[in-house]
Amino acid sequence: MADIDPQLPTSMPIAGHFDPVVTPRAVTARADGKIDLLGLPRTEITRLFTEAGLDAKAAKLRGKQVFHWIYHRGISDFDSMTDIAKAMRPWLDARFVVGRPEIVVSQHSEDGTRKWLLRTADDHEFEMVFIPDADRGTLCVSSQVGCTLNCRFCHTGTMRLVRNLTPGEIVGQVMLARDALGEWPKGAMDGLDDEEAEGDYSADGRLLTNIVMMGMGEPLYNYDNVRDALKIVMDGDGLALSKRRITLSTSGVVPMMEKCGEEIGVNLAVSLHAVTKEVRDEIVPINRKYGIEQLLQACADYPSASNARRITFEYVMLKDKNDSDDDARELVRLIKQYKLPAKVNLIPFNPWPGAIYECSTPERIRRFSEIVFDAGISAPVRTPRGRDIDAACGQLKTAAQKMSRADQDRLAEEKQVALG
Ligand code: SAH
Ligand code: SF4
Repeated sequence: MADIDPQLPTSMPIAGHFDPVVTPRAVTARADGKIDLLGLPRTEITRLFTEAGLDAKAAKLRGKQVFHWIYHRGISDFDSMTDIAKAMRPWLDARFVVGRPEIVVSQHSEDGTRKWLLRTADDHEFEMVFIPDADRGTLCVSSQVGCTLNCRFCHTGTMRLVRNLTPGEIVGQVMLARDALGEWPKGAMDGLDDEEAEGDYSADGRLLTNIVMMGMGEPLYNYDNVRDALKIVMDGDGLALSKRRITLSTSGVVPMMEKCGEEIGVNLAVSLHAVTKEVRDEIVPINRKYGIEQLLQACADYPSASNARRITFEYVMLKDKNDSDDDARELVRLIKQYKLPAKVNLIPFNPWPGAIYECSTPERIRRFSEIVFDAGISAPVRTPRGRDIDAACGQLKTAAQKMSRADQDRLAEEKQVALG
């Protein structure tokens, strides 16, 4: 594939003959020469301030203040950072910016779901979705533009991977959602240890309470950037979202799972979707590389898994493919065999033009759910949301990126080769 960088990764195992991940860029180069601070860790902000001429002590203080303004208050204009000396603000403004991904389109569903089509500075489109519920509001975040994997029921899988999103583009989705929902704390802030700030932000009734890495892309194939972005999202001085409110969904990149648990420690969701090698090989082709047993063992070994923090198994319901009573019983058997603290999320298949599957009937889904539930495992059926705007998680599509059938077939072949 021409747009795939053959360079080997430093921290990631290889899924096929070549590295399926393009080289990440830490800082987005801008035409005006300014550096975008969004997505950079505090230490890096401090380093850049030192490099630009501040002494170590000043750089550290300014780094802390700027980080707090960016992530705690949602401020991107240095002039509004009122606890920073007036003379300092133009100095910052001449060298740095705090960016956001550009919004191309924003859509609002009848059921309150919101979807945004976003654009990177180098002109690639990706999407995010906000799903409000009675007791929570979940933002579905993308990790890549397109996906190198090729799950047969997933629309993103038909898109060519354009590139990994940077930490700034990943955190930027959360920032944009907060902007759009009007959720930044208001009021005066005199200093960093200000009590008001703390209390204000942990208040209940927030719209955006949870994040799921279930948008476009495979987060564990963009591991470093996803980790860096989530660290910022979890930082107590900024967005301060608890790791218990963040879920990372993987199709089963087994060698990265342990590291993910140790370094990020968020909840894990696994796109299982099938219980036999034959069917999983077909619908989730990474299974040919890392099989079901290996995957479930990695789940059993996942560092933070416990009864309080169960692993979610996602299971898309495909008519006559993976939805029989036997499939449900085998699912139960596997979960018990590996003694997994688990919950099963049954997802009605969301069809897209050109998809070769159909959704299971509601009766079939109910029966499947009962079998799993009767075995003592929670198995809710996910209610489709935002269908009128095509916003279901994992069903994010970019009209601008629609491919011809011939292109899709060629890409599918290339991906098969890549998976080996
Ligand atoms: N790459 C990661 C995360 C993104 S996909 C992964 O595969 O887990 C997020 C979820 O949406 C996955 O469980 C995926 O299988 C599911 N999904 C994808 N396409 C879908 C569709 N057409 N209908 C229902 N669920 C789908
Ligand atoms: Fe990629 Fe996940 Fe879609 Fe599979 S389901 S093609 S891993 S985004």
